[in-house]
Amino acid sequence: MFDALSDRLGNTFDRLRGRGALREQDVRDAMREVRIALLEADVALPVARDFIAKVTEKAVGESVLKSVTPGQQVVKIVNDELVAMLGGGANAEGGEDGHVPLTLDAKPPVVIMMVGLQGSGKTTSTAKLGKLIREKHGKKAMMASLDVNRPAAQEQLAVLGEQAQVDTLPIIEGQQPVDIARRALESAKLRNVDVVLLDTAGRLHVDEALMAEMKAVASVATPTEVLLVVDSLTGQDAVNVAQSFSDEVPLTGVILTRMDGDARGGAALSMRAVTGKPIKFAGVGEKLDALEAFHPRRVAERILGMGDVVSLVEKAAESIKVEEAELLAKRMAKGQFDLNDLRMQLQQMQNMGGLGMLAGMMPGMKKAKQAMQASGMDDKVLVHMDAIMGSMTPKERANPALLNAKRKKRVAAGSGTQVQDVNKVLKMHQEMSRAMKQIKKMGGMKGLAAMLG
Ligand code: GDP
Repeated sequence: MFDALSDRLGNTFDRLRGRGALREQDVRDAMREVRIALLEADVALPVARDFIAKVTEKAVGESVLKSVTPGQQVVKIVNDELVAMLGGGANAEGGEDGHVPLTLDAKPPVVIMMVGLQGSGKTTSTAKLGKLIREKHGKKAMMASLDVNRPAAQEQLAVLGEQAQVDTLPIIEGQQPVDIARRALESAKLRNVDVVLLDTAGRLHVDEALMAEMKAVASVATPTEVLLVVDSLTGQDAVNVAQSFSDEVPLTGVILTRMDGDARGGAALSMRAVTGKPIKFAGVGEKLDALEAFHPRRVAERILGMGDVVSLVEKAAESIKVEEAELLAKRMAKGQFDLNDLRMQLQQMQNMGGLGMLAGMMPGMKKAKQAMQASGMDDKVLVHMDAIMGSMTPKERANPALLNAKRKKRVAAGSGTQVQDVNKVLKMHQEMSRAMKQIKKMGGMKGLAAMLG
């Protein structure tokens, strides 16, 4: 996700930053490249146009061009506009990083209505949300499938409900959507359920019958949240679908699925501008815990290649010991990051689902991964790297400069690898610490350090 866009923008900005002075024409040339990059990432044309206009207006001003670091300033302007485009700007309803949480504190049962096309990931997302509401919000959730069109849709939700440990409304053969919605509400009241999730029917295309059904269900269920589920892989289509739904039903937010895939990112970037509604969550896999809160600021940083250190540390904190994460974050914030840290981090990565999941989140990680893949190494790489670092002494890990040719040979022999593999690990470490220093310089670690005390 965002890889191609991120690479292209990275090249453009490297060139901008590389120059001491900027002329207006340099900025305009760079903006032409940014515009092409956005369109190639499938961003809707009016959205891209608007974006470029806003950035250009701010970036060609005297105060930027005459500043000491004009390139850096332009990148900052692009970053801020990207955040705004993703829904996180200064006046947005979200918190500091732009995430707009679910509204769950209305009088129970709070109703969340899920809408979207067939195959968008609606049923899976319903179960993911149910699980999240139970686990993270500590509320009692119940799910009901209103999909009477697709064979076995109701059974599918029941199966997912068991996995998510969230109750589902018992199925009554032949009952129609509006009646199922009514029954779900009654049952929720009787059983003191806090949040009811209604998984509505999908269709292959947006049509009148579908919209009429959505409206009828909404008028009976009076949902607090109406979440549109769209597949980010469908690019421009996702945007069109969102437009149609938002014209007909009062959406409160969007869930973008398959953000783990190789979508070009246009759907994510256009969604907010087209619907006027925030992307609340991103689906990042098939498993029921593969749902992430959508943070515009962090996503913008990821696109601009700054790495999503905050998300990474949060993820780490969930799957590993909190003290370790805190220690690591502190060391990272201080610009100390040795092979002991790298090793710890790689071990955590294995717990978190391997390289694929993390690539791009960690500064420098993407490049390191590309380098590894180019040399024919894959996910096994984590195991190799762990063995290599395991063959070093703690002193060597704390001070990699100790590793002269002789020691490298010993480490390679000890881990059953080659000296060049040892060098790769050292290079990766260098890349990562360089990226972290850069982030530190830019003040990006402030939030992280504050978060972890
Ligand atoms: P529905 O027809 O909209 O209810 O779609 P489903 O929930 O049945 O999902 C269709 C397929 O997409 C299933 O195989 C899901 O496992 C898969 N899926 C859903 N969300 C995601 C996601 O975020 N990432 C990935 N990789 N697969 C997903």
